[in-house]
Amino acid sequence: MSVTEQQVLECLAKVMSPRGTALTNANVLSAITVTDGKVFFSINVDAAEARAWENVRAQAETAVRALPGVSVAMIALTAERKAGGAAAAPPPPPRPAGGVAPASAHRHPHPPGAASPMARQAEIPGISAVIAVASGKGGVGKSTTALNLALGLRDLGLRVGLLDADIYGPSVPRLTGIREKPQLNDDKKMIPLNRFGLAIMSIGFLVEEDTAMIWRGPMVMSAITQMLRDVAWGTLDVLVVDMPPGTGDAQLTLAQNVPLKGAVIVSTPQDLSLIDARRGLAMFQKVNVPVLGIVENMSYFQCPHCGTRSDIFGHGGARHEAERLGVPFLGEIPLHMAIRAASDSGNPVVESEPDGPHAAIYRAIGAKVREQLEGAIAAA
Ligand code: ADP
Repeated sequence: MSVTEQQVLECLAKVMSPRGTALTNANVLSAITVTDGKVFFSINVDAAEARAWENVRAQAETAVRALPGVSVAMIALTAERKAGGAAAAPPPPPRPAGGVAPASAHRHPHPPGAASPMARQAEIPGISAVIAVASGKGGVGKSTTALNLALGLRDLGLRVGLLDADIYGPSVPRLTGIREKPQLNDDKKMIPLNRFGLAIMSIGFLVEEDTAMIWRGPMVMSAITQMLRDVAWGTLDVLVVDMPPGTGDAQLTLAQNVPLKGAVIVSTPQDLSLIDARRGLAMFQKVNVPVLGIVENMSYFQCPHCGTRSDIFGHGGARHEAERLGVPFLGEIPLHMAIRAASDSGNPVVESEPDGPHAAIYRAIGAKVREQLEGAIAAA
């Protein structure tokens, strides 16, 4: 029996709000999405009230999850400052597991006087290092790089997970060919899907691609926090997070709130993309996340027939940029038909051609990343 929106509303009517009214009468609920037993909505309150509402969010989530026919309930508390209002108290730190911290009470990444960004980043139990793969804009091959880098790290003997946090356009289901939905364990945590020896989670497993578009603004952070902390990742050396492209507020909040050990920036050699990459770099530096290095993707064109190399984009820009900015250069990946075809058929090139030249490049990039994370992995 699948649950209906009406049943969800009836259940929420029994949850009291801090205003002394039923949650359904408090004028704080977003539209409720119910698909195949999966329930998503947000509670939108003023940042000043966020603390009082966290408990209500948790109660609402427990109540909805207990409804027969509900497999997943994701309820985000979004706390926005009223325009022109006084600065709100900073939100409570994220709970170690199983909940969502009020999303972005901070329109500013790190308002003066607020706690240091690092203070809010509770480590994720069992995961030694979380790293981000980011790009200043879409279409540069960030997701392809994230997945193949994850596989390269796996080939080095590490236990690796991949979180597709590109909530605006999750591409990991396509890149991995995964069509199943995650199951829940006894603790009601989602079990990541296992493919190619990686633990994989994507919002794309839970909602249709067009539904993913509803995750806008502060909800993005809440949904991602939940995917980080409400998933039974198990023991991992590295969790690779495929970030949403760009350097806007959502990305900044993410970079600030996810306990990142470092970030890899993917760029193409074109000038425009490099400018975007520079913005990405500045974003991570602003929130004290070490940049592990820059990857130049689609660095040169390699003819699939004769193997001739053509530097059609004036290759080498990212290497020079990395040198100029004093961050490591991690490697260059050619624009090659095999990489595109493998990606788009759900069988990434490191997996489909493990002895080929491309797999070797991704493993070499993986080795440089691992070198920088060694301290974190060894300590765990
Ligand atoms: P992003 O995550 O930056 O939006 P994707 O990883 O989805 O980008 O890649 C965009 C497109 O480019 C996909 O069709 C992918 O197969 C292709 N692509 C990515 N990297 C390469 C490459 N090095 N060579 C050929 N095609 C690539």
